[in-house]
Amino acid sequence: MRILRALIAYREPMFEYYRDLLVPGKPGPTRLGAVLLLWERWIDARSRCTQCGALGMMTGFGGLLSVGSMSGWCLGCQHVAHRRTGGFGVALRAAQQALAGTGYSLPLTFPQGWSLGGNASGLVSALQEVGAEGLRRRRSVRL
Ligand SMILES: [Zn+2]
Repeated sequence: MRILRALIAYREPMFEYYRDLLVPGKPGPTRLGAVLLLWERWIDARSRCTQCGALGMMTGFGGLLSVGSMSGWCLGCQHVAHRRTGGFGVALRAAQQALAGTGYSLPLTFPQGWSLGGNASGLVSALQEVGAEGLRRRRSVRL
């Protein structure tokens, strides 16, 4: 969770120096540049937390053709939020639009979708390189 907060705080240097770093997730890792552009360009990938009002970032989506869901983390209180969407295709089109012309894509599959998560020790090292503090450096850090 602190990792996501640091990623938002240091998004500019992270994009500049580490945009091709692989961020762990399912069904496979995603390039950091794709994640940062998705959050920036897809308005539904950001939301206000219903619990505390802080910014929340989408960290995954999936579903069936007609019913889908997005999930994310609040950067303030760490509340896990789920939201229904119009279906997998709606999220897929929005994600593709956000990344159009950037050379980035999401490694997603239907109907599993896409989500961030896994050992983020490489990401933590990169964040520390650009000045993020308060992150513990261990061999295995869960995102
Ligand atoms: Zn919150």
